[in-house]
Amino acid sequence: MNSEPTAPGECDGGVLSVCVLGSGSRGNSIYVSDGSTSILVDAGFSAREIDRRMRSQGFDPARLNAILITHEHTDHVRGVERLVRRHHLPVYLTAGTHRQAASLQCLPEIHPFVCGSELRINTLTVRPFSISHDAQDPAGFTIGANGSRIGIATDLGHVTALVREHLRGCRLLILEANHDPEMLMGGPYPWFLKQRIRSRNGHLSNQESCRLLEDILHPALEQVVLAHLSETNNTPAKALAEMSTLLSGTCVRLSAASQTAPSPLLRLQ
Ligand SMILES: [Zn+2]
Ligand SMILES: [Zn+2]
Repeated sequence: MNSEPTAPGECDGGVLSVCVLGSGSRGNSIYVSDGSTSILVDAGFSAREIDRRMRSQGFDPARLNAILITHEHTDHVRGVERLVRRHHLPVYLTAGTHRQAASLQCLPEIHPFVCGSELRINTLTVRPFSISHDAQDPAGFTIGANGSRIGIATDLGHVTALVREHLRGCRLLILEANHDPEMLMGGPYPWFLKQRIRSRNGHLSNQESCRLLEDILHPALEQVVLAHLSETNNTPAKALAEMSTLLSGTCVRLSAASQTAPSPLLRLQ
């Protein structure tokens, strides 16, 4: 844990900045900072890989303040234990997620949170909300600082009114666009897996993600990052095409997160 001021090259000015270090079924991790507090949302790559990706973008892993976890699936927690031991980090997660994740049983500093109850991580205000996914007690988040908020919702099979309510008003959104339904149903996955992905506890399709954005689109929205794209059942071009039509005529910047490489640093204006 570290409370020193931001190093040159890192985010500063109290403005929220985000870097998706990688996203997809082989690992997920998002770096969020307001210049004073820097956290990871999920650490689903190996600790070594997360360190490597952070350093490649100019972020010092030793300056992290905490790890916030969405749910216990390996693609979200793979590197948590080692990162915690290496950098002495507190971990924030639901009690259900903690119970389910064998690798997280012996962490030195656990902060359980309850979906629906706001929590503070130093200068960041985090509002966790329940999402529909085949995990014990999975969460999406809004993270706020200095009057701005970002929203993160990946790994959800179904968009509820609660999800829309939380994400409304965010200036940067990281939304799941997991699959193209035709590619999924015509693809190589076994039937049970196709069913699981399409279920209300599975993952959002490009079209479902687009409908979510349509419902919560507002004039102050600056950026949308599509995340958790399937490498088998989707392509960035397909995911972006759905959204580009919706966003044409707006100033919203749209991108798709990659599984293999970090995004540029996305700063709120
Ligand atoms: Zn996942
Ligand atoms: Zn999951």
